[in-house]
Amino acid sequence: MDSPTASVFSLPELKDVFPGCSSYEELYNFSINETDLFWGTLAKLRLRWNRNFEKVSDCDMETGLFRWFVGGQLNVSVNCVDRHKEKDASRVALIWEKDEPGQEERVTYGELYTMMNQIANVLKSHGVEKGDRVAIYMPACPLAVASMLACARIGAVHSVVFAGFSAEALASRIVDAEAKVVITADQGVRGGKLIELKKTVVAAVANCPSVTAVLVAKRTGNPVVSSSLDVDLDEAMIKESGECEPAVLDSEDLLFMLYTSGSTGNPKGVAHSQAGYLLYASLTHKLVFDCNEGDIFGCVADIGWITGHSYVVYGPLANGVTTLLFESTPTYPDPGRYWETVQRLKVNQLYTAPTAIRLLLKHGNEHVEKYDLTSLRTLGSVGEPINVEAWHWYNKVVGKEKCVVVDTWWQTETGGICISPRPSAPGSEIRPGMPMRPMYGIWPTILGEKGEELEGNNVTGALCLKKPWPGMARTIYGAHGRFLDTYYRPYRGLYFTGDGAIRHSDGYYQITGRMDDVINVSGHRLGTAEVENALGQHPSVAESAVVGYPHDIKGEGIYAYVILKDGYSADAKTESELRATVRQKIAGYALPDVIQTRSGKIMRRILRKVAADQTEDLGDISTLADPSVVEDLIVHHRILV
Ligand code: ATP
Ligand code: MG
Repeated sequence: MDSPTASVFSLPELKDVFPGCSSYEELYNFSINETDLFWGTLAKLRLRWNRNFEKVSDCDMETGLFRWFVGGQLNVSVNCVDRHKEKDASRVALIWEKDEPGQEERVTYGELYTMMNQIANVLKSHGVEKGDRVAIYMPACPLAVASMLACARIGAVHSVVFAGFSAEALASRIVDAEAKVVITADQGVRGGKLIELKKTVVAAVANCPSVTAVLVAKRTGNPVVSSSLDVDLDEAMIKESGECEPAVLDSEDLLFMLYTSGSTGNPKGVAHSQAGYLLYASLTHKLVFDCNEGDIFGCVADIGWITGHSYVVYGPLANGVTTLLFESTPTYPDPGRYWETVQRLKVNQLYTAPTAIRLLLKHGNEHVEKYDLTSLRTLGSVGEPINVEAWHWYNKVVGKEKCVVVDTWWQTETGGICISPRPSAPGSEIRPGMPMRPMYGIWPTILGEKGEELEGNNVTGALCLKKPWPGMARTIYGAHGRFLDTYYRPYRGLYFTGDGAIRHSDGYYQITGRMDDVINVSGHRLGTAEVENALGQHPSVAESAVVGYPHDIKGEGIYAYVILKDGYSADAKTESELRATVRQKIAGYALPDVIQTRSGKIMRRILRKVAADQTEDLGDISTLADPSVVEDLIVHHRILV
């Protein structure tokens, strides 16, 4: 039995705030039974408000309308920067770990305050007003963070687009959001290579009539292609004041949108609002990672993903800690990069993805053992299920069995971590390869094939959440019907995650994977249809089917079956053209690992098995026009992989 001491909670305040609860279980039950009291108390305690809210929540899981902290007003940038600057302007907010090791730059809360306000004033001078959308196409760097906060300062809605997307992918996101301004850099630098950010933006905005200005920050200073919309961001900032009155925003005004891959149709602009998102991101950041004042938090995700939003920017800054901006790759200049960085910067919490862990594991322990990792206390994983081998390696070789390893399950739509081994009583058991326990206020449930809620333990099915929580997405930008169809109509009155899960005999949750046709390549999610559409744009392609297959390092690889039109031959030239088409339409990470060009009927069920090398149990193939083609496919598969 837990003793009701301060150590019961990793957040000591919680015990003072909810004195009736003396154990993790009691507090969790309280958060579920007294939801409004739980979140309302924390919102008052943890956020700075301009006007107090009148009602904690006004939510309806049937109609998909969600409002939190109704009537309250605040500014997110004040909560992330001003509060900490007032206390100690010299505290370090950001450490920019640049591509070359040992070149890091530190930005204090005082400096971040000035940068943010200058950019906010630049945006205003270009006509950006409350509610306008601003696209940010930049890698992790202080100006990118300051740009996100600048939007929050004036009530503009940011849409950060991963700076590896192609011009077409970027343009479709800018058009969907009708962004007024794009913020970018001349070039990016990653793994010793230059990335032509500006060139991509120029190509993209040529097809985006809503864009009236492109703000260009200097990263390399190399000459790059220009356009009539260009504004030199560094020069424009110098001319502006370092003070900008924060806009007073309603809790439910939009803070940002972020596009997820969209397994069917166009990418979805998942939209989050101000207060609920900030409270949820900051509380989960503090509790899951045990991150406190003075800590150096190292989330190596790119800011173009939700993990970068919640755990590089908003969570850590709301909590006033020092957050790492990692520009490089896990293997540059060698596979010791993470560990050298941890040693040099004395990182306390590291948050990365299973694909990176698997990759580093393959390179051998010597790259880890060279470095002093004693600063580390928490090791986090996110993005896909972490296999047990990788979990043990992370725990033993990196954590020396002295760190808390947290496999965190969540989504763009959930705003923050929803299932994770912590918060729970310090020392309580952690099982390899599963996120285990719901966060406060999160009530998971598992649905069976007929849509019935499965009671008890030892059950597998569709993972849904039963109760609204403050960090939940409010809509898909411009497509509320699609929002309802995707998340609230599959199972009435519940939030459908799209993932499958097991509830084990002890009540712990394990995620089995996504229930739709999405491939997870090194943590990048791709709809199979998206890759098929891209391939289909090459003149040689009659038809294609894309499936994922197990890949040692990337988690899943992309296997494309392509049927060529008459007159085209399956040679190396066609194949390289097909790859170029995918790169142009989507991004480099979407390139198929294997392209099999054959003729025959497409039957996904069989193709998936061939790709995964599970050819013993192909099931019924008698309905195929030509069953012998399967033999042919298997033979070719063996040649290819
Ligand atoms: P789309 O919904 O358009 O396909 P996406 O799901 O790729 O986009 P994200 O929100 O970044 O975009 O990814 C969330 C998904 O990642 C989860 O639904 C789940 O499938 C997977 N995931 C994240 N964390 C974990 C984890 N710890 N264990 C297992 N799967 C995880
Ligand atoms: Mg998803």
